[in-house]
Amino acid sequence: MNEQLNLLIQLQEIDGRIRARQEEKKRIPLQIADLDARGLATRAELDKAREAIEEAQKAKRDRDRDLEDGGVKVEKLKARTSEIKNNKEYQAMLKEIETAEKENKTIEEEILKLMERIDAAAAEIKNAEGRVAEAGREIEEDRKKLDEALAGLDSQLSGELATRKDFAARLDKRLLAQYERLYDSKNGRVIVEARNEACSGCFMSIPPQVFVNVKKNESLIDCPHCHRILYYKEAIAPRV
Ligand SMILES: [Zn+2]
Repeated sequence: MNEQLNLLIQLQEIDGRIRARQEEKKRIPLQIADLDARGLATRAELDKAREAIEEAQKAKRDRDRDLEDGGVKVEKLKARTSEIKNNKEYQAMLKEIETAEKENKTIEEEILKLMERIDAAAAEIKNAEGRVAEAGREIEEDRKKLDEALAGLDSQLSGELATRKDFAARLDKRLLAQYERLYDSKNGRVIVEARNEACSGCFMSIPPQVFVNVKKNESLIDCPHCHRILYYKEAIAPRV
């Protein structure tokens, strides 16, 4: 096979690997951002649980005061009953005491419910703290893996870039320039296989005489349609 053709095929293979690793590298910051977002989300759950307990505790303090006031009120009413002379007033006073006691009972029930809410919020805080700790460990582990992946990609890339430099130096300068000019617009497939009298880059048919020449792999022949460079690969085994 023509040496330049062979070099170009290898250069394109390396460039494909370099490009894949660069794409992989680009995804890493996004994956790190996902991890950070996950950490923030679990901490937000904990903050929410902490807010809920504070809210319930404040409500309970308010109701505790109301109950204290209510107790004082009942005591005062009871103290006044001894001063009452007539029965009608006495009955009215008893009614007032009863109402105040009923109110206090309602407040007590509310306090009990608030205590239940506080207990539930405390349990939720404990769960959320567990989730934060667990997520923290997982995030740290994943972060470490991503850092390692990044270091691995960097080292592979530097090796591949060195190899690329070597291949590029051995290629005819004009051919290299042509290849590099076409690389992006041909989506990394500048040199392609000609198969069954067709270009595997654009899938158009190649004139039989051109195909005969391509099969020799002796010179650089462009696809007449997409201008990719064509080469021929001997069939080794049928495709499964
Ligand atoms: Zn073509």
